[in-house]
Amino acid sequence: MTMFFLLAQMLKLDSKSKYETMKIFTLKLGVTNCYLLQEKGTVLIDAGESRKCGKFLAELKKLGVAPEEISLIVVTHTHWDHIGCAKRIQALTKAKVAVHANEKRILENGELSMPPGATRWGKFLSPIFAKWSEKFNIEPVGADIIIENALSLEEYGIDAEAIFTPGHSSGSVSVLLPTGEAFVGDAAMNMFPLTFRPGPPIFAEDLNGLKKSWQTLINKGAKKIFPAHGKPFDIELIKRQLFG
Ligand SMILES: [Zn+2]
Ligand SMILES: [Zn+2]
Repeated sequence: MTMFFLLAQMLKLDSKSKYETMKIFTLKLGVTNCYLLQEKGTVLIDAGESRKCGKFLAELKKLGVAPEEISLIVVTHTHWDHIGCAKRIQALTKAKVAVHANEKRILENGELSMPPGATRWGKFLSPIFAKWSEKFNIEPVGADIIIENALSLEEYGIDAEAIFTPGHSSGSVSVLLPTGEAFVGDAAMNMFPLTFRPGPPIFAEDLNGLKKSWQTLINKGAKKIFPAHGKPFDIELIKRQLFG
């Protein structure tokens, strides 16, 4: 009887720890980390910059993932370095594209947008980046799924939620796993010469909104931050800089 009980407990534990089967891959398209989450299904977060689309299939092959395995592309926001290959990746994978309602128009028109600086350095860089990005051609892509407050990724085989986290842009979203990994797009940055240390972004449309979004992520259990630019880092660094 005890054996059965132990076995049942073990199985129960096993089914709870979904993370053991969750794989997190980083697929770099230019300056942008696109994250590939693979559990029962496969979901791509962000779609890189347009001059690097040619790398997508080769990078995917290196990870041992077939294009048709990807059933959903979550666009964290619609800046040029996050949607540059959305159309081409959508065509290769036949995945659905999810975007927040506030940025549907930008995605579907292939518009170029650049947020204002949130720091002195950001204010200096913003017009330079805006000028630089003009040469990139963004192919418009239709939005299949419109995110409002949140979207569960369960239907796509991933135990995670895309959450509305505006601030960097008006329609920014983050993907949060129940184990605390947060894929936040540009709600955080950790890449020179954008930032000199991991922390909040140097560009933002609404700093108060950004702070509120971070509070939401913290309240929901975010622990490890995966920015679109640079390496992952601990949430404590955000807490110290925004709420310290
Ligand atoms: Zn951005
Ligand atoms: Zn970016």
